[in-house]
Amino acid sequence: MTPPATSSLNASRRASDLATLAAGEVVDVLVVGLGATGAGAALDAASRGLSVAAIDAHDLAFGTSRWSSKLVHGGLRYLASGQVGVAHESAVERGVLMAHTAPHLVRALPFVLPLTPLVSGSSAAAAMAGIRAGDLLRLSARTPRAVLPRPRRLSAVETLRLAPALRSYGLRGGILSWDGQLTDDARLVTAIARTAAAHGARIITRCRALALTGEGAHVRDEQTGEELVIRARAVINATGVWAGGLAEGVRLRPSRGTHLVLRAEALGAPLSGLHLPVPGASGRFALVLPQEDGRVYVGLTDEPADGPIPDVPQPTEAEIGFLLDLVDSALEVPVRRSDVAGAYAGLRPLLDGPGGRTADLSRRHAVLRGADGVVTIVGGKLTTYRRMAEDALDAVIEERGLTAGPCRTARLPLIGAASGPELGRLTAPAHLVRRYGAEAPDVAALAAADPSLLDPVAPGSATIGAELVWAVLHEGALDESDLLDRRTRIGLIAEDREAALPAARRALAHAPAGTGSR
Ligand SMILES: Cc1cc2nc3c(=O)[nH]c(=O)nc-3n(C[C@H](O)[C@H](O)[C@H](O)COP(=O)(O)OP(=O)(O)OC[C@H]3O[C@@H](n4cnc5c(N)ncnc54)[C@H](O)[C@@H]3O)c2cc1C
Repeated sequence: MTPPATSSLNASRRASDLATLAAGEVVDVLVVGLGATGAGAALDAASRGLSVAAIDAHDLAFGTSRWSSKLVHGGLRYLASGQVGVAHESAVERGVLMAHTAPHLVRALPFVLPLTPLVSGSSAAAAMAGIRAGDLLRLSARTPRAVLPRPRRLSAVETLRLAPALRSYGLRGGILSWDGQLTDDARLVTAIARTAAAHGARIITRCRALALTGEGAHVRDEQTGEELVIRARAVINATGVWAGGLAEGVRLRPSRGTHLVLRAEALGAPLSGLHLPVPGASGRFALVLPQEDGRVYVGLTDEPADGPIPDVPQPTEAEIGFLLDLVDSALEVPVRRSDVAGAYAGLRPLLDGPGGRTADLSRRHAVLRGADGVVTIVGGKLTTYRRMAEDALDAVIEERGLTAGPCRTARLPLIGAASGPELGRLTAPAHLVRRYGAEAPDVAALAAADPSLLDPVAPGSATIGAELVWAVLHEGALDESDLLDRRTRIGLIAEDREAALPAARRALAHAPAGTGSR
């Protein structure tokens, strides 16, 4: 059976795609793992004209890809550690996302480094030099200044205008710089996976690979417990921190990064992100990251996370306390434990290297070719998912002798992508345009038959019922957790999640019974 050429993912399409694979269809490429990397590999392969199946044990963006800082960054920190190639690659991929493939999902976020008494004159000069070097990276990646404005010094008054809660005592001003910020990391993964689906990829969640070979995988449908074999001419292992469990000789050394989730009022509703120096750790900064939904994330720790890999990593109280102390050291207003509305942690899929702390390991990705023909793609970061996917596909095409077209993803817009002026002309609420791009009017139109779908799903939440129904019909959401923890991020605050559960249950009643296409 030919897969429907539509971007819509839902329970009905999943069932028919899985049935086709169970019946013995042989695909060109099987991708295992649907984080940013695996979804990117599925899109790369499908857009080169290859037939593709991509599976995840849980859901789209179930792993590390939803626990990031949600930045599409230009690689300044890699430049600082002398990794010029990694930094340049990051800057190029940031430009690709912001200017071509996902301008609807990435905005330019201003960052302020406040020049407090903690920042000496020489540190400030070094920081300014670094930020200027970051602007040169932007230039070398050919990202226009209209996309990422020029960095500059700020007066104390300008600094406080952007971040009113900063402690004013001793504030000498600030350094303003710009970087890319995602509307949400899990939404990026959803958009990549749906774009792959629009190119015919079979995207199947709740399907766990139990064992891989170069010719396919033994898998289990986690909905029914049934086991089956998916046959493929090439197999890509894109399971992030879990990659070592499926491929011989892949050794990872995960490190845990924790973020706090606060309501913006608790931090004086900052208009910019903040780089806050970590006392006693030269060149290390904590991030304050205002989101468009009235929340602010504060990160980021870097702790070795040896031992068994949990499905959902948990932040420790010590990490939460460390971040609170950092924020407290810079702000006029006290931020208490009770202000922490939520916290999340993710594991960086870092390749094990010789000695040293995990923070010092390279963020470069690696394509590892197993003796059985399985190609593992691991390491890297969200920003560079497209390049990682391209490298993985180049490797399997060569290794397995597949006939495929050239990589097209650097100029292939993701579903919903449109230019700023086009997005500005859409007749849909602004918050929907920021989350769905050109599809926002279609999301809003769901409320025509049921105006209650325009209501927020929890008190004070920016998310409306129509978004949950849209996720069930078109974004492959199969249960409450898919809806609240990945298609939307209501679940990052437990009390909001609880309040939104009834809306999620109502939305699931819209699951399509017999059709798989829009
Ligand atoms: C705290 C933190 C902050 C970060 N911030 C940023 C940032 O701001 N910007 C940036 O560019 N990068 C950032 N990163 C890095 C980035 O998030 C990761 O590099 C990236 O998300 C990894 O994606 P992935 O697809 O390789 O892995 P994952 O997202 O972990 O995907 C792996 C998938 O494989 C699935 N899977 C596992 N086992 C199986 C199996 N047996 N069968 C089928 N499926 C399976 C999992 O369910 C999962 O969905 C951050 C990382 C962390 C930890």
